[in-house]
Amino acid sequence: MITQVRLATGNAGKAAELGRLLGCTVVPVEEWESPVEDGSTFLANARIKALAGARRHPGEWVVADDSGIEVDALDGAPGIHSARYGGDQLDDAGRVTALLDAVANADTRRARFRCVLVAIGPDGQEFSAEGTLEGTLAHAPRGANGFGYDPILIPAADDRTCGELSADEKNAISHRGAAASALRDQLGL
Ligand code: IMP
Repeated sequence: MITQVRLATGNAGKAAELGRLLGCTVVPVEEWESPVEDGSTFLANARIKALAGARRHPGEWVVADDSGIEVDALDGAPGIHSARYGGDQLDDAGRVTALLDAVANADTRRARFRCVLVAIGPDGQEFSAEGTLEGTLAHAPRGANGFGYDPILIPAADDRTCGELSADEKNAISHRGAAASALRDQLGL
């Protein structure tokens, strides 16, 4: 029985959020130092972080996540580069504007959030799970909730952006929630 999981993050809020989704206690890795994420997929980068966390806490369960937004008109970009799209100098609002500019004349506005979770067990066993939130890009940002690209992704089957959803509404359909639920099944949580 798994009683506690470490999340490869220094952010206690992120750990608590994943704890709610996984239905177990999730605490941050101690003195977390982010490794270089030089993988070319969400899975590779989540695994790099999970292995770094497992080195820090041998014998414990460690989970890491990697996520981003994929835009069909940009062949899946920004993808794994979502956090730095448009350059390091931009904040969330600047990245949103840069992305809207990039798709201004596009034929399709289809996009999705994707999240991959990797878990490493006390004996080095590895599990991974993925979730997506399919949607379309709004023409202008709407809503003050959430973070990142939430103000411009309109989930399929809704006409509000993620920035207009409550935290509970988003968790119920989110890529992170779906990945967590799949991982939960695998780990028997
Ligand atoms: P990570 O922290 O390396 O996984 O980077 C994730 C990046 O993808 C964030 O900085 C956001 O820009 C974007 N992203 C991932 N999940 C979400 C979401 O649920 N809402 C909005 N943006 C997200």
